[in-house]
Amino acid sequence: MREIHVDQVAETVARLVQEANFKLEDDVVGAINRAMNLEEAPVGQAILLQIQDNYTLAGTERVPMCQDTGVALVFLELGQEVHLTGGDLTDAINRGVAKGYTEGYLRMSMLNDPIKRVNTKNNTPAMVYIDVVPGDQLKVKVDCKGGGSENMSQLKMLPPSAGWEGAKRFIVEAVANAGPNACPPLIVGVGIGGNFDKSALLAKKSLLRHVGDPNPDPEWEAREQELLAEINKLGVGPMGLGGTVTALAVHVEVMGCHITALPVAVNIECHSHRHKEAVL
Ligand code: SF4
Repeated sequence: MREIHVDQVAETVARLVQEANFKLEDDVVGAINRAMNLEEAPVGQAILLQIQDNYTLAGTERVPMCQDTGVALVFLELGQEVHLTGGDLTDAINRGVAKGYTEGYLRMSMLNDPIKRVNTKNNTPAMVYIDVVPGDQLKVKVDCKGGGSENMSQLKMLPPSAGWEGAKRFIVEAVANAGPNACPPLIVGVGIGGNFDKSALLAKKSLLRHVGDPNPDPEWEAREQELLAEINKLGVGPMGLGGTVTALAVHVEVMGCHITALPVAVNIECHSHRHKEAVL
């Protein structure tokens, strides 16, 4: 059994939330570069250039690339041979978020209660997701997710008879309804199957995949490409000003489900896809 002190987790989270907000990972940069070659509208190309300038400047100056520095999503892959010591893990993660957002002068966007709406002034609570996996390591993945794109996400319990065509229609309509509000070009995370909550989790976790990496199942990879083509036909374009690149990628994750159900969740991510990871 390998011991890891929860303070190490807190320090890692504090570092990752800052790095995520200051510097885009190569997979996102590569996707935006590819979009430059695919975008046909002059206004779309101009917006993509501004997006490139913005993230380059953010990385150089160590300033946030967007005013909305996001809700901190913290995904842990916890090796079952790891013994966490030193206190409560969730408390440590929230300590790390508070430290990172305070030291990085990142905007505090989180509230104590959805109706009372008092700012917690340290960007907690974090959204914490824990998977127990084989091994003696702890992988920490962070995604600082903007509120605008999250707000345009949707979930629907379709009748099984809707099939792939019904699921596809719902997904494409969700992106059409998002229009400019989710700050395209987007990464569209889709979860199909499971149940009500699992489909949402699948959609969220699909965003952890490196942008544009395909689903390992060739049939689902083909459906991802079909969705991407349909979405890019919408003409929403970069920042919603029209163009041929509305989405950079569509990631679909699936699992089995009940005979009565066809849950479909769409979790939309903006072009400021701020993710980082570390292994302890
Ligand atoms: S949706 Fe993304 S790019 Fe748009 S304001 Fe929110 S964080 Fe920033």
